[in-house]
Amino acid sequence: MTDKTSHRHTTHSQAIDLNDEQLLHYNAQIMLPEIDISGQQKLLAAHILIIGVGGLGTVAALYLAAAGIGQMTLADPDRVELTNLQRQISYNYAMQGEAKVKACQKTLNALNPEVSLATIERSLQGERLEQAIAQADIILDCTDNLNSRFAINKACFKYRKPLVCGAAIRWEGQLSVFVPAQKDSPCYQCFHNPDSRLNQTCSANGVLGPVVGVIGSMQAIEAIKLITGAGEPLTGQTLLFDALSMQWQTMQVTPRTGCEICGQRV
Ligand SMILES: [Zn+2]
Repeated sequence: MTDKTSHRHTTHSQAIDLNDEQLLHYNAQIMLPEIDISGQQKLLAAHILIIGVGGLGTVAALYLAAAGIGQMTLADPDRVELTNLQRQISYNYAMQGEAKVKACQKTLNALNPEVSLATIERSLQGERLEQAIAQADIILDCTDNLNSRFAINKACFKYRKPLVCGAAIRWEGQLSVFVPAQKDSPCYQCFHNPDSRLNQTCSANGVLGPVVGVIGSMQAIEAIKLITGAGEPLTGQTLLFDALSMQWQTMQVTPRTGCEICGQRV
């Protein structure tokens, strides 16, 4: 057994020895044969980038911090507003006016001080977006606009980083996973047209808080699966959730011939 802080200085290539407190802390998921000690070690060594800490991002971040992800980077330019509190559950009433990334960092740090947290208080674009994506192992797209989604998708394919996309509006949710290193993986742009620029936001259309929570939780599940290798990731499929009828639908998504983002892979 090593001391409590030893894992902070290890790199991805080294397995992290779990101390007694960590064995207890993460016991419920270590008991799962698909995760076990080796899976927990991978979680502790992982770096996840969460772009957007709104409804989806705050929920995913809470579960990922609780699961013992070693390093997380949170990116968002916004401040906490009263209208956010209906669904963005890393924030509380007293945090209104604070930068979202700082407020979220505070909540996550209280939940699990072991997670190393970095914050980017700006809208990630261009070189900064590429840099942040290149440094992470897995990217969670928790944004609410198409321009960001296309830019994130493009950079993830450039740097071959797995991308877990979530979206929620009104009573509906959507989840997709793209793995650029996998030859048969489609990308976000294969089935969304960047020219349509359809920008539907929750503030303009409304959304039920728990619907966002369901999709954010599922983004956390897919990230944990990708890191530990447990089960089958949702790659090549899109999951559609309709809360009003409580129906789930799975849509097969194949790479679009000639897609300018994922069609160039060798
Ligand atoms: Zn594509």
